[in-house]
Amino acid sequence: MTDTTMAPGEPTAAGEPTAYARFIAGLPKAELHVHHVGSARPETVAALAARHPDAGVPQDLAALKDFFTFTDFAHFIDVYLATVALLRTPEDIHLLTREVIEGLAAQRVRYAELTMTPFTSVRMGIPIEAYTEAIEDARITAERDTGTVVRWIYDIPGEAGLESADATISYAVDHGPASLVGFGLGGPENGVPRPQFKAHFDRARAAGLHSVPHSGESTGPETIWDAIRELGAERIGHGIA
Ligand SMILES: [Zn+2]
Repeated sequence: MTDTTMAPGEPTAAGEPTAYARFIAGLPKAELHVHHVGSARPETVAALAARHPDAGVPQDLAALKDFFTFTDFAHFIDVYLATVALLRTPEDIHLLTREVIEGLAAQRVRYAELTMTPFTSVRMGIPIEAYTEAIEDARITAERDTGTVVRWIYDIPGEAGLESADATISYAVDHGPASLVGFGLGGPENGVPRPQFKAHFDRARAAGLHSVPHSGESTGPETIWDAIRELGAERIGHGIA
């Protein structure tokens, strides 16, 4: 317990975590804004790359860590899409989901709401029934093994337009498991007006789902007002503008 005599945040020798950092690491946490594919660890991507060598993603962890060092937002999108391209089967979805939850558990996250984009996986050829089964099995197994409780948010990839919104509301209302608690909207905001998704959010809210769209991530306060007035937002993703 000598750690507590250190000033919070005071650096220790040899790059060890500070007492403050150790205190934070040890706290139990709730994580309310975490993206499924966006949270893939390099180790998970390496395993997926080995399953699908034709994708050209490095399988070597050191090379992958370089690949994952973002130079700018466009590079982040490239890396993100390379990971998306590795998620081809229900087994891939299961592996990613399970390892994301294990990563959260390792950070002492006790409860998380994980934002999922099922539209992307169905477009990759995974039937929604198989997708739902994979994430649910991963969730239940990970909760049993780690104690971390996870609930889902399904989000519309806004840049994919109304077709993706129609599909996503159906995945939520017609196929969603009881552990689905929220309905969201993500992607670029420029050129993707929020009010066009009002009917989808109305339907989601009528089905008892919470409204948790992203807005004000890359555009101004008008988008935040749209999320509140048109989509009934209860919690806003980012909302920094
Ligand atoms: Zn987000």
